This record gives sequence, C-alpha cells and structure tokens, in this order.
Amino acid sequence: MEGDPGSTGVFERLGVARVINASGRMTALGGSQLSDEVLRAMGEAARAYVDMSELQKRAGRRLAECCGAEDGMPTAGAAAGVAIMTAAVVAGTEPGRVASLPDADWEPRDIVLQAGHQVHFGAPIVQMIRLGGGRPTPVGSVNRVTADDARAGFAGPCAGALYVQSHHAVTTGMLDLATWIREAHAAGMPVLVDAAAEEDLRRYVAMGADLVTYSGGKAPEGPTSGFIVGREDLIRACRAQQEGIARPMKIGKEAIAGLVVAVEGLATEMAARRKRCEAILSALERGLREVEALEVSREPDEAGRSIERLSVRARPGASLDIQALAQGLMAGEIRIFTRNHHVGEGCILIDPRPMSLDDVPILIERLRALSARIGG
Ligand SMILES: *Cc1c(COP(=O)(O)O)cnc(C)c1O
Repeated sequence: MEGDPGSTGVFERLGVARVINASGRMTALGGSQLSDEVLRAMGEAARAYVDMSELQKRAGRRLAECCGAEDGMPTAGAAAGVAIMTAAVVAGTEPGRVASLPDADWEPRDIVLQAGHQVHFGAPIVQMIRLGGGRPTPVGSVNRVTADDARAGFAGPCAGALYVQSHHAVTTGMLDLATWIREAHAAGMPVLVDAAAEEDLRRYVAMGADLVTYSGGKAPEGPTSGFIVGREDLIRACRAQQEGIARPMKIGKEAIAGLVVAVEGLATEMAARRKRCEAILSALERGLREVEALEVSREPDEAGRSIERLSVRARPGASLDIQALAQGLMAGEIRIFTRNHHVGEGCILIDPRPMSLDDVPILIERLRALSARIGG
C-alpha cells in the first residue's frame, strides 16, 4: 500500500496533482498515510451502528490509558482540542453557560499564555481560545517571559493557563513547562497544554498538566482527528461542550476507531518507523552525494524531538539558488513539498517521516535535473 500511486484514483479523477510529501506531518498536505490496521478499524466502524455517546466515552478512556491520564475525549483535531479545553475551564458543565459560548458574560475567562506561544499553525491559536469563550491574555514579551509576568497574569480574572509545546513557538526566553505548571498551580489555575505534534503521549500528563491535546494525524499517524486527555472532572466538562461549541467540531465513528488503533500502536510502531526513516535518509544521502551542485548533511530536529532530517544546500562555489530549487520541486507534474522554514538561509530540509522508499528515486532525479537547469 505504501506509496502506491494507484491509491490516488479519486484525486486523479478530480484533477488534483500527485504529491510527494518530504516536509513533515502537515495538515495542509493531508496529515498522514494510514496503516492497513488503522484503515481496517475505520472500515469496520463505518459499516456498523453504535451508541456514539458510549463510543466517545470508551474511546476516551482507552486514549487516556495510553497516555497515563485519568480520562480522555476524542476530538476533530488539536485545534478543536484547544477550543474545547478552553470552553471546559470557562463554562464548566453548567448547561446555560455551555449553550451561550462563545459569548460569555461572566468571569473568570482569561486564558493566560506566554507572548511567544501565540502561534499560527494554519490558524491563530488565540482564535481557538476565543471560540471556546476565553479571552486570550498573553503575558511577557515575545522573547522574554518571567515568573512575575506569569503570576501577574494568573492574578487577573484567569480561568486557565495555556502552554504551547511546539516547534512553531518561541522557545528562548520562555518559561519552561515545569515552571509554568508550578506557578499556575500555586495560583490555583488549571494548566492546558497544546502538544499537537508531539510524540511523547505521556510526558505532559506525568508532569502535572491538567488537560493535554494532541493531533491524531500527526505523531500517531491516524486519520484527521485529535484528542484531549487529563483530569477526570475537566474531561467531564470537555464532554459537556458536545451540546455546545464542540458540536460543529464532532468526530465520526470511523475516525474515532482509526484514532484509537493508531494511538495504541504508537509505542510499538516507533522502532519500525525509525528504521524506515533511516533507510530513506541513507538512500537519499547516497543518491544526492552524486549531484555535483549539492551539499547534503543530517540535521537534528529544531524542537529537540527524535527526528533526523536531511539538509540540502548549494555546494560552496556552486551558483545555485536554493529558493528557486524549492519552487521548482513544487511546480512539477508530481508536486514535491520540502520543509522550507530555512530556505531564506539557503537550506531546504527533507523530512523522511511522511515519505516512502519509492519516493526516493523521484526526489533524487528531480533535484538532479533542477540543479543542472537552475545552476546552469
Ligand atoms: C497542527 C497544530 C495544531 C492543529 O492541529 P489539528 O489536529 O490540525 O487541528 C494546533 N496546535 C499546534 C501547535 C499544531 O502544531
């Protein structure tokens, strides 16, 4: 199934270009490729009726077990997770309040977060807070937040303390999660963590976070989905939002089934996945070393996760515009997306995680042809 071009039949019929994803687990490129096991669970679920409320609860329990948490709730994604976690701490389980969100004429409803955590992941995180009835309340400066800044925020009409664990967020100068939790708990505030793209499903709950949300389509490589895990009373408040703002964010039975199987498999899948990534990286390295104009090397993940990528730069002395190279990759009949956060500094990154071995020769050939043409 992996990399089978025949599996894009519907996309082809719609006239949508074939894509090779060498950039990472990007929601904008369709999240992830599902394993046979995940697909099978989704197929089974699709053909059966079920009591959705019971499925929601049981699946939440199982997700929580996988994360070492008290309870959990499947969601449409991590963005929905942020809105629902916010609604849970702003409205609780009170039906009148649940029904009036996102309008809230009561206090407290500040959601305090560090200035450098106001990320845009395709949409602004502060908008997700507002959707849940919260008032985004950044503290400190984008490159410096002190414990005093945090305390001042928690002393206001604060309903929760949001922490964004992400490569999108500023890390230098921010308070780390342990300090954030200590200060928030000292002020009696629940800590909400957006860990959308993180691989470690246990770490943040173990550190004492009260609610944590993850994206099911990112590290677990599940279908488009997400989940919240955490304290039992707060998960009950999250579930109460299903009769409010969580309704237009609902997740179907197929996605719930696929999500659970993907999350259950994450721990055991990791070793096999690392091996596959290593095979892709070394095949790429071997092939690209032969391309005169290019210099390749391994790069560790900027956010400290256990991910290795391949950086591609112009070899010293070669006149090659790396920006044009990245553009050229995206412009072909098969559109190849690389990780271009550092393209301005003359570097494109290749992320092996969403790739298959079949993509490798295509990518090498395109880089060879383009660097000959652009470098000219
Ligand atoms: C991807 C991402 C999201 C959104 O996740 P979805 O599952 O696509 O809704 C939220 N926050 C961060 C930090 C992300 O990286």
